[in-house]
Amino acid sequence: MTSPRILDGKAVAAAVLDECRAEAAALTAKGIVPGLAVVLVGEDPASKVYVGSKVRTCGELGFHSRKIELPAATTQEQLLEVVRQLNADPAIHGILVQSPPPAHIDEQAIIRAIDPRKDVDGFHPENVAKLALEDATGFVPCTPAGCIKLMETAGIATSGAEAVIIGRSMIVGKPMALLLVSKKANATVTIAHSRSKDLPAICRRADILVAAVGRPEMVKADWVKPGAVVIDVGINRIADASKKSGYRLTGDVAYDEVAPRCSAITPVPGGVGPMTIAMLMKNTLQAARQLG
Ligand code: NAD
Repeated sequence: MTSPRILDGKAVAAAVLDECRAEAAALTAKGIVPGLAVVLVGEDPASKVYVGSKVRTCGELGFHSRKIELPAATTQEQLLEVVRQLNADPAIHGILVQSPPPAHIDEQAIIRAIDPRKDVDGFHPENVAKLALEDATGFVPCTPAGCIKLMETAGIATSGAEAVIIGRSMIVGKPMALLLVSKKANATVTIAHSRSKDLPAICRRADILVAAVGRPEMVKADWVKPGAVVIDVGINRIADASKKSGYRLTGDVAYDEVAPRCSAITPVPGGVGPMTIAMLMKNTLQAARQLG
């Protein structure tokens, strides 16, 4: 049993936010106050928490922020109109429509309506293409960007490493794969998903294992190569009567049994989660700089 390095997302995120605060002050001195609009449709409790913390972080960094809360019955056309107004608003540099919207909303149509220059989530097709093209003027989705920043800060070498990503979503898995295979990171990348055969064997190849599935403690100790780096993106709520909230958070990795096998691992909570919001703030600054 060895002690793995715990990749402390809270500490790295705090350092990123300090940089953001300084850059926001410099931009504000030039007459550009970075502005983020966050749109929430409906009453999803987890989404409310995320939106609240994004708006609060804007305040702490000296950004301008606008929270637009719309009823669950908002129509597609009404939401598109809100997006159009934000696209045209010079005080707003970043626009984010909190996911998931209610089922009657076509999320892809909303994403495509956002001005790609203000798409700080990095979900618009133009930004997806720019990520594939390694064009730094695009926006990189915040969670995979946060995973890379955590690894970079810890000095984890990716060049030539075998990386396995479990999950192929456009929010985490696919952009993570593009980042790891880029000419900056130079990893050899495998994406596994719900139809992959013998997932444990695929995972055992990994020097860097990224779990982004949404299944509590799915990754077991014998899936992990000794000395691997394990990045746990999963955030799962497990009922727990001993907690005031009635639940506890756990990742996609069985942390207690996996940690002793790894060279480094992210905890849940306190690993990837705090990085996501920090990278959102970085993206908003990038938008403010680029739009001027
Ligand atoms: P998603 O549901 O869009 O995608 C899940 C992926 O897992 C799919 O590609 C699917 O093919 C794969 N999958 C499902 N079951 C599988 C199985 N049995 N074996 C192998 N692959 C399987 O989810 P997402 O949006 O990518 O999020 C994944 C997890 O990451 C969730 O727990 C989510 O809450 C969390 N998340 C965390 C952050 C953060 O800030 N830390 C941000 C986004 C998502």
